[in-house]
Amino acid sequence: MRSISILGATGSIGASTLDLVRRNRDDWRVAALTARSQVDELAALAREFGAELAVVSDESCLPQLRAALAGTGIATAAGSPGLIEAASRGADITVAAIVGCAGLAPTMAAIEQGGIVALANKEALVSAGEVMTAAVAKHGATLLPVDSEHNAIFQCLAGNDPADVRSITLTASGGPLRCWSMEQLRAATPAQAVAHPNWSMGAKISVDSATMMNKGLELIEAQHLFPVGLERLRIVVHPQSVIHSMVEYRDGSTLAQLGPSDMRVPIASCLAWPRRIDTPCKPLDLAAIGELTFLPPDEDRFPATRLAREAAAAGGAAPAVLNAANEVAVAAFLAGQIAFTDISALVAQTLDKDLPPAPRTLDDVLAVDSMARVQTGQMLETARVA
Ligand code: NAD
Ligand code: MG
Repeated sequence: MRSISILGATGSIGASTLDLVRRNRDDWRVAALTARSQVDELAALAREFGAELAVVSDESCLPQLRAALAGTGIATAAGSPGLIEAASRGADITVAAIVGCAGLAPTMAAIEQGGIVALANKEALVSAGEVMTAAVAKHGATLLPVDSEHNAIFQCLAGNDPADVRSITLTASGGPLRCWSMEQLRAATPAQAVAHPNWSMGAKISVDSATMMNKGLELIEAQHLFPVGLERLRIVVHPQSVIHSMVEYRDGSTLAQLGPSDMRVPIASCLAWPRRIDTPCKPLDLAAIGELTFLPPDEDRFPATRLAREAAAAGGAAPAVLNAANEVAVAAFLAGQIAFTDISALVAQTLDKDLPPAPRTLDDVLAVDSMARVQTGQMLETARVA
């Protein structure tokens, strides 16, 4: 029996992870589960899985959580210290599935325990970059990628020498607005942007998929997980989302990982690594799918991948600034305050400001993140459409 903690247990990745745990109940002991403010959902999960600790990051929800779990023996905590406590239980595997840079400090705390960290929370790695990879090395932790593209690459690299890699290609679905004109994009609503054709995900990553910033963040994520050089990292649009990514080797062989568009596949690969477990996903039926198509990204309509590549090349504070600006802009778009196309424009404007020095510690990264949020917030005032 192994122990598992899930940071962001009530989200889309949290639910997919718990679905697999539910199907293999005898294999897992649930140490800690966390949520932002979804008390009823969190309490129900904590009871169902007999969690040792349940944490809400929103401190005002703690009395309600305590009441919901009274008499169960399940410990409760709240706020940033609560999240750190949940991440520091020394579980065999900690699933980092909080959305945004809000998940960075708890993810770093989990890494410091030296166990396995299954990383879905890409914003944490994008912001912290070398600070996180250095902590992984220092504490002897194992970082397993949950993100489907990175999980695919991880699988395609197994048993090979990274020195033999010629290129790595991240596939992108292109999102729900892939075929829209510039004029249509300007008028895209939050409901249209989150209606992803292939994947069911949280609102923030759904908007990132529509702007292609998700692929931009994934490029930076790949730069840190697979350090073969930024110039060897490519992006191709593949609307069917059947090939989750590919690795090309020096001899001309390209290895690809294929699978259904269901996050339980890459999550299962992390939970069982280096072995395999069953998932309830329908097997791929390639004859029914019929065709796989590929297109180059259009960076005129979707400039986010260009911005991310530039931030990745600049390094230092740039990726953390890019991420923070994007988080603020996406939240403003979802709140109906700015237009869809303003998201990338605001990110570009924030990156145009003088950048702070390269962060060296977790606190440095968090300071860059806060500063960029303030800057983008100020720009929002002039970008407001309503
Ligand atoms: P989601 O919005 O469905 O869930 C987010 C979870 O984090 C919830 O449990 C929520 O309560 C918690 N949370 C939100 N804000 C928080 C805060 N400020 N402090 C503490 N907890 C907070 O998001 P998701 O779609 O599950 O995505 C989670 C992460 O996984 C993101 O980084 C996303 O990019 C990544 N990811 C998701 C998918 C997917 O298919 N959903 C695929 C690849 C990567
Ligand atoms: Mg992905």
